[in-house]
Amino acid sequence: MIKAILFDLDDTLLWDEKSIKESFTATCQHAEEKYAIDPVLLEENVRRNARTLYASYDTYDFTQMIGINPFEGLWGNFNDEGESFRKLREIAPAYRKEAWTQGLKDSGIDDPVFGYELAEKFPIIRKEKAFVYGDTFRVLDQLKGNYQLLLLTNGSPDLQQTKLDITPALKPYFDHIVISGDFGKGKPDPSIFEHALECLSVQKDEVLMVGDNLMTDILGASRAGIDSVWVNRKQKVPNEISPTYEIAELEELAPLIKNLE
Ligand SMILES: [Mg+2]
Repeated sequence: MIKAILFDLDDTLLWDEKSIKESFTATCQHAEEKYAIDPVLLEENVRRNARTLYASYDTYDFTQMIGINPFEGLWGNFNDEGESFRKLREIAPAYRKEAWTQGLKDSGIDDPVFGYELAEKFPIIRKEKAFVYGDTFRVLDQLKGNYQLLLLTNGSPDLQQTKLDITPALKPYFDHIVISGDFGKGKPDPSIFEHALECLSVQKDEVLMVGDNLMTDILGASRAGIDSVWVNRKQKVPNEISPTYEIAELEELAPLIKNLE
């Protein structure tokens, strides 16, 4: 019998991809106004430079293990505990500036001062761009009260908390919130799933993990012996990681759980 549901946050409940996309669009429009450059090209160039730079820092292994992506690095403050977060906090301002300055340069504009301006603008805009999926609250309403709900999210506690703060209606649905940066390891490590089970005082066959990412949510659940529901909104072709169940919209979740009973 299902007693609890573990939910991923980004791109499962929160539409982070859209938030990032719209933040790039709005920030790059400032560059178009100043220099008449193609905002789409600039976005591409900044994204590419951000990925490359991010992977070049010695914090990369840590960010991989916790699950903090390059674009989160472009707006996070990382006011979190521990030595690795301290390093990341130190690197972040220069990283942001460099990614935008190099992106501009690759688009034909050599202007580090403006690169800095855009780098500082992006986090402000990102905080104004909070999106949830259209069915998120409807589905949580259907489940709340019948199941314990736990948010199991990879990332910096400070940044994940910021995301919850700018979408304040989400947090009250959850009995527990587990953030990888607090725990010390991220999905797909099975230990964070086992930690979630302990928080809930349930067995692994009494929960379902719901998430959009095969390599973290679904693989990790599988390693921990937990059944999973893959939210595959973009009809991605599955790889070698097999979810227990697959849905195309979050809306299908409540009927699926009902069917299991
Ligand atoms: Mg996700």
